[in-house]
Amino acid sequence: MGQHLLTTVAEGRAFMQVIDGKAVDAISGQRIDVACPSDGKVFASIPASGVQDVDLAVQAARRAFEEGPWARMPAVERGRLLARLSRLIEKNADELAALESRDTGKPARQGRADVAGAARYYEFYGGACDKIHGDTIPFLDGYTALTLREPHGVVAGIIPWNYPLQILGRVAGAALAMGNTLVVKPAEDASLTAIRVAELALEAGFPAGAFNVVTGYGSDAGAALSAHPDVDYVTFTGSPATGTAIQQAAAVNNRGVTMELGGKSPQIVFADADLDKALPVLVNAIIQNGGQTCSAGSRVLIERPVYGKVSAALAERFAKLVAGPHDADLDLGALINPKQRARVAAMVAEAEEAGAKVLARGAIHKDAPQGGWYHVPTLFGAVDPASAIAREEVFGPVLALFAFDGEEEAVRLANGTEYGLVAGVWTADGGRQHRVAKHVRAGQVFVNGYGAGGGIELPFGGFKRSGHGREKGFEALYDMSATKTVVFNHG
Ligand code: ADP
Repeated sequence: MGQHLLTTVAEGRAFMQVIDGKAVDAISGQRIDVACPSDGKVFASIPASGVQDVDLAVQAARRAFEEGPWARMPAVERGRLLARLSRLIEKNADELAALESRDTGKPARQGRADVAGAARYYEFYGGACDKIHGDTIPFLDGYTALTLREPHGVVAGIIPWNYPLQILGRVAGAALAMGNTLVVKPAEDASLTAIRVAELALEAGFPAGAFNVVTGYGSDAGAALSAHPDVDYVTFTGSPATGTAIQQAAAVNNRGVTMELGGKSPQIVFADADLDKALPVLVNAIIQNGGQTCSAGSRVLIERPVYGKVSAALAERFAKLVAGPHDADLDLGALINPKQRARVAAMVAEAEEAGAKVLARGAIHKDAPQGGWYHVPTLFGAVDPASAIAREEVFGPVLALFAFDGEEEAVRLANGTEYGLVAGVWTADGGRQHRVAKHVRAGQVFVNGYGAGGGIELPFGGFKRSGHGREKGFEALYDMSATKTVVFNHG
């Protein structure tokens, strides 16, 4: 991918929504400016949709679900369409990666990794379509009972700005695989690749109305979509507060929801851990995507005998980290918007005022544009477990360390926040690996490794405030469908 594409990819394009198989503007004609986080400059715009646009999209999805080719399409054909979309994403990888990086500020290699991840979601779910089925149930004499897995109907997907392509892939892949139709509302800060993927879906042969993308602000288009009475199921990834609002809106219609709401994920380093393997992973798990990852490893718990050694090694690595523009492809990019940067800066300042000690700070590249929304990587030494920096999600390149004595305290600290999304355990002791994996409350536990955001095949989701329902892997197909029991009385 050339430098040129990374900085010019959206030039001259009028981005439109995809509703009922057509490119359409918002009914109001209003648009939202799209700025690149690397320099803060506006380079494109997207439609600013509201209640009426959302209604058109939901109606189109409803028609496609009940009438037309989608309604009767065999699972194998849906799988072929998803596989074709996967190949088209690969074919257009350079353009999609450049769009994603320019739209979100993420380093070029992360944009490329996200395209590969997205293609993989459609490939995985394309292959899964015709391999998921119901059961027959031993019942009374004279009866045959069986279950069918049925789609919900119209699924609404509300997508965040941190991994737009990948999260769209996991939502759309699973929803479409089960035969639902889809209305997606990408984040106002990062909608360009969702628009592009919906266009590619039409090129792949998806019938009109199966895969709709409506753009706009959360408070307008997002709120209208989650409250729409003709939406059958809502899936959301984003902040807990917005998740609550969406659940309340969906509750008025008594609709089901999947909620992925972030985390404060711990990595636990025991004294016997292989530090050469652990250290780069500990750093990457918080620096990847500038820490704007639901499953970021934002807390590192270190057993006291190695606390000095591990914290010094982490400080050495943090001091070398450099943030810069997406096309420079450095350790991390800018944060998504000025509000997010201000929030991260305020949390860091508050932690310092409360007495937390900064062990190391990285740098912002000297040639990074002045208008970009950069935040310097920051490493805090052992923090008070009761403090905000120890408990609340920062969603930025900020890592907090903790010291612990023994396995019991490690588990207590790991479970000591309201979140429960992912955890990492680093130890050579097999028994301890199993015990800690069992006792940590998290939807995913990695032993001697960590996969922030990774693993298409691996079921993913939260306990506690991190949400409910599961995405990724086969489990997502259960969330995106419902069991219908059919009983035959044949005497
Ligand atoms: P942030 O606060 O960082 O913007 P959010 O969790 O609020 O993150 O946003 C994630 C997604 O939720 C975006 O697509 C956004 O537009 C959408 N959203 C925000 N507010 C609402 C709302 N009240 N109802 C539905 N969707 C919303």
